[in-house]
Amino acid sequence: MTLTDLSLVDARDGLRARRFSARELVAAHVAAIEALNPRLNAFITVTAEAALAEADAADAALGRGEAGALTGIPLAIKDLFCTADVRTTAGSRILESFVPPYESTVTANLRRDGAVFVGKTNLDEFAMGSSNMTSAFGPVESPWKRAGANGVRDAARLVPGGSSGGSAAAVAARLALGATGTDTGGSIRQPASFSGIVGIKPSYGRCSRWGVVAFASSLDHPGPFARSVEDCAVLLGSMAGHDPRDSTSVDRIVPDYAAACRRGVRGLRIGVPREYRAEGMPAEIEALWQQGLTWLREAGAEIVEISLPHTKYGLATYYIVAPAEASSNLARYDGVRFGLRVPGEDLSDMYKRTRAAGFGTEVRRRILIGTYVLSAGYYDAYYLRAQKVRALILRDFTEAFAQVDALLTPTTPSAAFAHGENMDDPVKMWLNDVFTVPADLAGVPAMSVPAGLDADGLPLGLQVIGRLFDEETVFAVGAVIEQAAGFTALPSIRAGV
Ligand code: GLN
Repeated sequence: MTLTDLSLVDARDGLRARRFSARELVAAHVAAIEALNPRLNAFITVTAEAALAEADAADAALGRGEAGALTGIPLAIKDLFCTADVRTTAGSRILESFVPPYESTVTANLRRDGAVFVGKTNLDEFAMGSSNMTSAFGPVESPWKRAGANGVRDAARLVPGGSSGGSAAAVAARLALGATGTDTGGSIRQPASFSGIVGIKPSYGRCSRWGVVAFASSLDHPGPFARSVEDCAVLLGSMAGHDPRDSTSVDRIVPDYAAACRRGVRGLRIGVPREYRAEGMPAEIEALWQQGLTWLREAGAEIVEISLPHTKYGLATYYIVAPAEASSNLARYDGVRFGLRVPGEDLSDMYKRTRAAGFGTEVRRRILIGTYVLSAGYYDAYYLRAQKVRALILRDFTEAFAQVDALLTPTTPSAAFAHGENMDDPVKMWLNDVFTVPADLAGVPAMSVPAGLDADGLPLGLQVIGRLFDEETVFAVGAVIEQAAGFTALPSIRAGV
């Protein structure tokens, strides 16, 4: 087995036992990035030199017996997290040359525990998208391909999902042992599902948003990706924690998530929301969902049908609240303080030229929608109404969790699609988020676990949703699904096809 195929936990144990050095581990990942990133475009910035120097420091710490939870572990960082002295673009031209003087709390926490950063990953511009096609730095190619007839792989380039598509592709293709992402409407879980890896969006407030480029502040959730549930548990344990610099960060003990992975599901009640039976959903996704419920029942859980009656308003609510907050957050990119400046005849001409040159189509669409729904004449009809519906969606979850301990649903209504698909129809693209946005609107934790392959050999994920701040049960249920599914399929790029 090569070093890049190890799980994060096995790599950590191997480092501590000195079976290989941090330099060897990081160099193996840097070599994999050099070989495969030209095709995948998963990284916007590769920090190979700094990573190797950090690896040497990690080896020195390991030699002194001073290993942290992640000492010497190579990770990829979504280019939405500010990293001190390393360019942070948010996938946008407007921040193309922005080098933050500060470090986000989440990445600082990972560094505190010894992690090594191999680079900054590609994403939809300002995390707005479900495909990674809206990045100003070009699309990411999924490491997966559809199985064609006669065993010859279909040539179509597929999307890794979005917006954290670069992070998901990097972890799936074994260019890093784990990665950070952010989930505002599904951007951790949907790319995890499309890419055959695990991703968890913790409860709102678990991970600090400080130093994360803001999209929609009441919905942005930082979280980890990895190739196993336990690896995600270790990463989240490091990323999470109270941060006085983020007023929405919660002051609660961070439990031992890795221990929670071993709890099992005996005696748990698992809810099946009947409203998640979307019309037109492929039969194989429905079948996988049923299979997931069978696995949980066989492991000792009780399956209960429940109702989340306001599910059908989730997407509409999200696509009012998220653009509204985005239009406000993105007002700061005016050519004065950050990144790009295009000179103009006067100040307002400079603003206009800078924003016209700096923002792509999807970002402009969101700013326009957001400005509209917040405008004096429409605020009550759209924004205020959406906030009321959001409260009803939260109440649905509260009522459901009075009856059950966790919910099981599909993560997405389809497997990965091809580059260019859904691009001319934004609403069709937004439908990808139908199963993921409710958990963002409610702030409850939710994970995607790879559970099987579709008829084309593409990964499909199942989603586990938990009570607010009960990530532990989400990890317990996710680990049982992972164990039962025994998902070992390699992405095409690593299977040599
Ligand atoms: N696909 C959703 C959107 O475009 C979610 C993005 C996200 O979670 N950052 O807004």
